Amino acid sequence: MSTSNLQPERVETEIRAEAKRYGFDEVRFASAFPVAGIDEYDRFLEDGLNGTMEWMAKSRPPRADPRQLLPSVRTIAVLGMRYGHARPPDPGGLTGKVACYAWGRDYHNLIGKRLHRMTRNLRTALPGLETYAGVDSRPIIERAWAQQSGMGFLGKNALAIIPAKSSYLFLASILINAELAPTKPLRDHCGSCRRCLDTCPTSAFIGPGQLDARRCISYLTIEHKGRISADLMEKTGRWFFGCDDCQEVCPHNPANPLPADPDFAPRPGHAWMDLEWVLNTDDESLMQHFQGSPIRRPGPTGLKRNAATVLGNLGDAAARPALLHARTHPDESVRHAAVWALDRL
Ligand code: SF4
Repeated sequence: MSTSNLQPERVETEIRAEAKRYGFDEVRFASAFPVAGIDEYDRFLEDGLNGTMEWMAKSRPPRADPRQLLPSVRTIAVLGMRYGHARPPDPGGLTGKVACYAWGRDYHNLIGKRLHRMTRNLRTALPGLETYAGVDSRPIIERAWAQQSGMGFLGKNALAIIPAKSSYLFLASILINAELAPTKPLRDHCGSCRRCLDTCPTSAFIGPGQLDARRCISYLTIEHKGRISADLMEKTGRWFFGCDDCQEVCPHNPANPLPADPDFAPRPGHAWMDLEWVLNTDDESLMQHFQGSPIRRPGPTGLKRNAATVLGNLGDAAARPALLHARTHPDESVRHAAVWALDRL
């Protein structure tokens, strides 16, 4: 399709208007070539830092050449939506922490639907416009495009950060066939700070901006299947699902977060998880409970393994009945975590 009828200013105006309409807080643009972040991505894979996330290697070809997603691509529109709400107070007791991104609705569904409507409206308003949109699960290195477009700088914690505003950002991309003026990248805003590197409980950063996913609590509690090694179980501390330690210490995240989409506000009981309830609820009911929530991702066995792990770290004898129950679970990784936890009570 020819792009000659697509006036860049008009395309940009329409995208900005639609992005605002669908709740995105930030919009930036990057030229589709050269491709952002692929060298770093390759080094990550070559060093095996992706753990068991084999999909990262399988999805490399379109990440390296976005023409495989949209043959006519010229520009990447990068969209950012803040999700950071203030963490509810610690209820204490036998509860575990949930990463902030998972307190509300599943962003894949929510943002995916908004992108679908948005791109449909754009194609209607701009005949000749071709689009390919994705949020997280599509093969696009969103963090790198966020950096290239100047939406944020890449912090030492390997996240895209909007200076003095937030790193709690969902990133989405729309590939388009129009040539828009790229927005400028930002300079580094970490300076001599290294709080995130020093705070990480598992020392998962092997250097500034270089994360060994195999040691990352988010990876271990969400993506990793099976047993977690004993030394890492101990270091997960109170994290039941994901981890925000490297964001909570970052000075670019204000103590009182900027307003974020209400769909990501904490659902009751989703910021601090009742761990006994997780272990005592049958697998099917657990999955039904987390319908529409990102917390569903590790499945019942991953969630129960995580609950037993945190109970072991809490070391409260009140958890014994739930752990004894978990010790009879059909999944080996749940039993392993329960036995490990019982030993620590
Ligand atoms: Fe950069 Fe400090 Fe934030 Fe880490 S905590 S990303 S070093 S500013």
